[in-house]
Amino acid sequence: MLGVFLIVMLLILGRVLHLPRQVTLLMIGLLWVGMLSLQVVAPGSGAAAAVGGSAAGWLVLGAMVGLVIAYRGLLRRLRARATPDLVPVTRDEGLSGAELDRYARHLVLRQIGGGGQMQLKAARVLVIGAGGLGSPLCLYLAAAGVGRITLADDDTVGLSNLQRQVIFRDDLRGEPKAYAAAQAMLALNPHLDITPLTRRITEGDGALIAAHDLVIDGTDSFATRAAINRACVAAGVPLIWGAIGQWDGQVTLSDPARGGPCIACLFPKAPEHDAPCAEAGVVGALPGVIGSLMALEAIKHLTGAGQGLRGRMILFDGLYGETRTIGTLPDPGCPVCGGQSALARGAAPL
Ligand SMILES: [Zn+2]
Repeated sequence: MLGVFLIVMLLILGRVLHLPRQVTLLMIGLLWVGMLSLQVVAPGSGAAAAVGGSAAGWLVLGAMVGLVIAYRGLLRRLRARATPDLVPVTRDEGLSGAELDRYARHLVLRQIGGGGQMQLKAARVLVIGAGGLGSPLCLYLAAAGVGRITLADDDTVGLSNLQRQVIFRDDLRGEPKAYAAAQAMLALNPHLDITPLTRRITEGDGALIAAHDLVIDGTDSFATRAAINRACVAAGVPLIWGAIGQWDGQVTLSDPARGGPCIACLFPKAPEHDAPCAEAGVVGALPGVIGSLMALEAIKHLTGAGQGLRGRMILFDGLYGETRTIGTLPDPGCPVCGGQSALARGAAPL
């Protein structure tokens, strides 16, 4: 029967030429219409006999195929409704395709997502100190996509730094730390705007501090730390602060304008044993832990994820492998913030 043979040939042709299924079906449909017309117009002719069958036979066959196609379409629609596609990440106008790939693990986090990543990109952060704490801090801020970072450090890379300051390489000895660290951050993530400053930040840098959304202090001098705290309180800019001893460290968020104590509330005087790590020594991986905690708190603070360390402090003891979080209160007699935080005024703790 020529009609059936032609249909089978069209099916084979469609498969061999990798034609879209719709095209193959369209050709078969046209052939079917032609054969049916032939049976209707000239039922007794030689051509109709060659094609074979009858008008009723071709009609029944067409109706059966039509039913099968309709049934499969209905099944496909029901399946699509039962298993919706995975929600694609919304392509944000502010993030390029490369950035969407780079920050993919942030974008799928419920607490960060596209909105949080845009907040990180728009953030202006001042990092003070590119030493032991600054090394992991800068690398993780850069990797996380914190868009505008000012990095201040007046020191140069020395051989004794390389035991823990992992952002530097041996061949960078003698280079200014601010430039060397900025170079490493841009090598990790070129989508950033990094401003290196090869000088100390003092209390007189109020305008510079006020131009940032967040200050992160990784210096190891009590006097510098106290000056940064005073400038941040005066400018109303939150300050993430970390410090390390030989085997232990602390991290907190000082933001008395919005609650909790400032650093001077907690440490009004220089500790008796405030020897810098050059004299006291420090175990190499410890600043990796504390600096990473500081970066984590910065990411949380900038994106609003989770609960920050305002009014709390993480204490880490590396020698015994213990971590504690303690509550901290403003000092009403604090000469820097005057204890004038939301907490001191009786507001609910944050
Ligand atoms: Zn205070």
